[in-house]
Amino acid sequence: MANVKVAIRVRPLNARESVAGGRLAVQVEDKLVRIRNTKLDGRHDGPGESREKVLEFGFDYCYWSVAPEEPHYASQEEVFQDLGVTVLAGASEGYNVCLFAYGQTGTGKTYTMMGTLDSMGLTPRICQGLFKSDDTFPEGHNSSRVEISFLEIYNERVRDLLRGREQKKKPSLRVREHPEKGPYVQDLSQHVVSDYKQAVDLLEEGIANRITAATHIHDTSSRSHAIFTIQYTQAILEDNLPSEIVSKINLVDLAGSERADPHYCRDRLTEGSNINKSLVTLGIVISALAQNSQMSSSCQSINSVASHTSCLSGGGGGGGRRHCFIPYRDSVLTWLLKDSLGGNAKTIMIATVSPSSSSYNETLSTLRYAAHARNIVNKPRVNEDASVRLIRELREEIDRLKRTLLSFQMQLNPSPSLSDQRDGSLSDIVLQNELKVDELTKDWSESWRDKKELLEQYSVDINRDWGGFLIHSLLPHLITLDRDVLSTGVTFYHLRVYTIHNLGY
Ligand code: ADP
Ligand code: MG
Repeated sequence: MANVKVAIRVRPLNARESVAGGRLAVQVEDKLVRIRNTKLDGRHDGPGESREKVLEFGFDYCYWSVAPEEPHYASQEEVFQDLGVTVLAGASEGYNVCLFAYGQTGTGKTYTMMGTLDSMGLTPRICQGLFKSDDTFPEGHNSSRVEISFLEIYNERVRDLLRGREQKKKPSLRVREHPEKGPYVQDLSQHVVSDYKQAVDLLEEGIANRITAATHIHDTSSRSHAIFTIQYTQAILEDNLPSEIVSKINLVDLAGSERADPHYCRDRLTEGSNINKSLVTLGIVISALAQNSQMSSSCQSINSVASHTSCLSGGGGGGGRRHCFIPYRDSVLTWLLKDSLGGNAKTIMIATVSPSSSSYNETLSTLRYAAHARNIVNKPRVNEDASVRLIRELREEIDRLKRTLLSFQMQLNPSPSLSDQRDGSLSDIVLQNELKVDELTKDWSESWRDKKELLEQYSVDINRDWGGFLIHSLLPHLITLDRDVLSTGVTFYHLRVYTIHNLGY
């Protein structure tokens, strides 16, 4: 169980706000954000009224990025040291991680997530961190694979940002659900990268595609959500015990939150027009999850007093309140981020705000939204490869059987023949299990090494040729193309020399 971590970042005043007098409504102190309604400043305070002018919110991290000369100014590097490093730590342990930026248009979501040419944001820094962490294990003992995809949701349609020119002709992609892995985008391109440069090239290509779209469709950038996904697979062989863990890192730059104002959207939703259904649904999902988490925690405290009561629906306790239904499927964004919101992921939200008193209402609404999100409880777990888990479990079983055998042998048994029989069958099981483990470990190591070698040799060419794929190989090989969404769609069989059989044609 892990609560969604929430950070607030206050951006510098923009030119318009400075010209208008630059009055600040927001203040940050350690992990507290205070917001003051300056419109009430001139009014005469009645007793107890002054408290309403200043509202205070507590968060996990608060960043004051208003002016670099100020002592508690938070730079891109400082934001990365907290949030980016947390993302990398979660990914290296094999957890799914999601980091999303939320806030009004122009408050610094894209600046924080992507950055500018001279001030790199979280996404490129995280890519850099991923390739650095490769050095932590001695050569030959670990191996990792990084696959990248980048999509945009605009008006409930999903566009692949990494398909180059071909994309424009394509209709939007479909979101489907895998029985175990959950929702995914069908036919979304996945790109294997082997260094930081390749990762950043893809990021830049995707951003450029997003910007091109903005010039064609009015105001797209503030209405579209961009999700940059890194699938990070690590394989480690330590003391001949394999471990293979996979982490999915979702880095999300959301559309401007003014579109999520319930008064602005409700009419239009009932009219059937789709202004930004995803952002409105995100708000509803966050509220419902926060409500459920609060109910569960109050239920726990009730249970600690009277352990036999239950506050869930159908239960006798908790005043008969039911857990809310979470409408993930009501929008593409919430459906795709289902695991990141209340599921199998460690999630961080960074809410960006303007410090200006002219944005008081929007800032207050962002702070309230963020405070809600902080109540969401996720259930992250390490994503381990199934065959590796089997090897580990078999090993544990062998150790247990060996201990049992040892204790039999040490016991003075009144019936030696029975003991011999039991010893014999136990030894057989141990032996069989050990053989199975050896075989599985060998299979796993070989397949991982082969895959890695092939990817290193060919991935660059596969990436480079968007129209199809190009493989340089002097050795005989077979290629299959298939529509299996769980693979890259291309399978390459490398025929080893002297292993080609005559099929009798
Ligand atoms: P959003 O993505 O939320 O619409 P942007 O990231 O595009 O907003 O930011 C709007 C403008 O403000 C950009 O010019 C950006 O460079 C600038 N900006 C935002 N946050 C910061 C910051 N922390 N430091 C310096 N400039 C910032
Ligand atoms: Mg933006």
